[in-house]
Amino acid sequence: MASQRAMAVVGAGHAGGRAALQLRAQGWTGPIVVFGEEPDLPYERPALSKGLLTGEQSADQLMLAQAEGYAGQGITVRLGTAVTRIDTAARQVHTAAGEALDYEALLLATGGRARRLAIPGADQAGVQALRTLADARALQARLQPGQRLLIVGGGFIGLEVAASARARGCEVTLLEGGVRLMGRAVPAPIAERVAALHRAHGVDLRLRAAPESIAALNGRLHVRLLDGDLIVVDTVVAGIGIEPGVQLAREAGLRVGHGVCVDRHLRTSDPHVFAAGDVAECPSVLSGLPLRQETWQNAERQAAVAAANMLGGQTVYDTLPWFWSDQYDHTLQVAGEPALAATEVQRTLGEGAVLHFYLDSDGRVVGASGYGPARDVTKELKLARALVERLARPQAAALQDPNVKLKSLLTA
Ligand code: ADP
Repeated sequence: MASQRAMAVVGAGHAGGRAALQLRAQGWTGPIVVFGEEPDLPYERPALSKGLLTGEQSADQLMLAQAEGYAGQGITVRLGTAVTRIDTAARQVHTAAGEALDYEALLLATGGRARRLAIPGADQAGVQALRTLADARALQARLQPGQRLLIVGGGFIGLEVAASARARGCEVTLLEGGVRLMGRAVPAPIAERVAALHRAHGVDLRLRAAPESIAALNGRLHVRLLDGDLIVVDTVVAGIGIEPGVQLAREAGLRVGHGVCVDRHLRTSDPHVFAAGDVAECPSVLSGLPLRQETWQNAERQAAVAAANMLGGQTVYDTLPWFWSDQYDHTLQVAGEPALAATEVQRTLGEGAVLHFYLDSDGRVVGASGYGPARDVTKELKLARALVERLARPQAAALQDPNVKLKSLLTA
């Protein structure tokens, strides 16, 4: 008798690990096998650039489950094991070691790799990215008081690393190639406040700036900038985005765009193959346009939906985008899809705290972003997110007026 086909998960990151746990929780009694290239069990990434660097959190706290947890549920996690090929006709995965596994359904949760700096000298010791737990451990060891750090990239990773490094007493320079921080992910007025906060904390923040070459001299890294300036540091960290891990999917003949293309059920162009997390390009709930999200929430929620559908369900992925970033004592959040806005409304919450609401042509709140000291704004950010989740239709004047409680607009 042929042995039972397995639920196969390729990628042992947040989405992959969560999906394996969900497959069991949602009733699959057969084998579950997770393949991961990295040496670590699946972990959540947000703390890699924050608590793990400052030493406030340990690696153990980031794990979705411990080894005994997987073993106890009969989930096989094959760490340090690369999948090299997916045969969708035979429904088999093949590993670098020459093994083959028959699958019932397969989940691609391959995430992505950190983009590397493509400049001379970028491949030497002391130059690194921050994507994996191993990257975070290596950087943590380097962030000693008085050490000089150059961060390339003014996105969330670069900015969070800057705040963590300042907390550790390092000297920090940050280069952003664009005209402002965080690209189009957050509105310009918030990007300006974020820049001011970093400068107030002693970060040498340079916009329209990029490195041209790196040379090691007398134990330090001499970084030449495009504008000719020279910066001498101990460590260079690139926070310049990821390259989605689409290669396996492409070679298997699956449809690939900016990520692995999936439908609202997270099914790829092959009916037995699904994708979730950073690699999945899924129709936006609001616009239907393809959207690939690199967020904690997306990994967590898509994993659960993919698991349900791998088991024969018809669950639609209908969670609106949401992410946050903590820098110093400030917090920033974006919910929904600000890009769909027809009009924008600003609500000033107080000294240094602000909310932006994005309304579509029907007056629905399709997005909200907010920023301020965490202790002042956390509750308001939560209410703003709830307005987006309900696609509420409040009066613009009420949204703008800080004397009108957001809570009252939720129930209106
Ligand atoms: P991450 O998730 O790593 O923070 P993002 O894509 O959100 O990635 O942000 C990366 C930022 O890095 C962008 O603002 C982009 O303009 C900037 N960037 C990319 N390449 C360079 C470079 N060579 N020099 C300076 N900035 C760069």
